[in-house]
Amino acid sequence: MTKKSNIFETGYKLTKSNRKTISLSVSKDGKLYIKAPHVCTIEDIVTVMIKNRDWIEKKLIEFEELKKYKESLHFEEGREVYICGLKLPIRYVDSINEIRREEALLIPFKFKRKMPEKLEEWYKKEAFNYISHKTEKLAKQYGYQYTSIKVTNAKQRWGSCSVKGSLCFNWRLLMAPTEVIDYVIIHELVHLEIKNHSKCFWDKVEELCPDYKVKRRWLKENGERLILS
Ligand SMILES: [Zn+2]
Repeated sequence: MTKKSNIFETGYKLTKSNRKTISLSVSKDGKLYIKAPHVCTIEDIVTVMIKNRDWIEKKLIEFEELKKYKESLHFEEGREVYICGLKLPIRYVDSINEIRREEALLIPFKFKRKMPEKLEEWYKKEAFNYISHKTEKLAKQYGYQYTSIKVTNAKQRWGSCSVKGSLCFNWRLLMAPTEVIDYVIIHELVHLEIKNHSKCFWDKVEELCPDYKVKRRWLKENGERLILS
């Protein structure tokens, strides 16, 4: 059980502007940000904080848990990594020159000092192979045509589709379950036809991936844990 944090102990950053309402957000660095109208008094802000206490505490606890998870990541023998949603332990082996996926993820012993770079390199290559193969298959199945495909390091998003029809995917997606990867691919394929996120877009996504909402939620809840270090 994580100890509940006291929202008034953590402090906050307040910005005042011409806006009409008070808004609260917890950033990726675990800080509480408050945006408020110029006329707001400290009492108004405290009232809003008390009213939203449960939400703020939930966000701060999530931040602490993610921080602990990140601190727990290491590259010693036995560390488990995810590939297409499957958990595999890493094992260092003397007799191989390349990373190999078997019942464990076998890594040449000489790479141990070059982690996580060597493993990241392998993930990028595997992600490209897996995602480009899957995209080709799904595009054919649903009648879409794209111009090129790339695997990138984009921090903020899982995929993108340019006006020229080239698709980009984040290599970390390879850690997600296959059906979640499929959803992201379908999402980008539908963007070849509909560029925005209108109702029409989501209707089409739903037609091709009926439980897309479950996958979207999974990414929202677990996406930040799809990291190597
Ligand atoms: Zn989109």
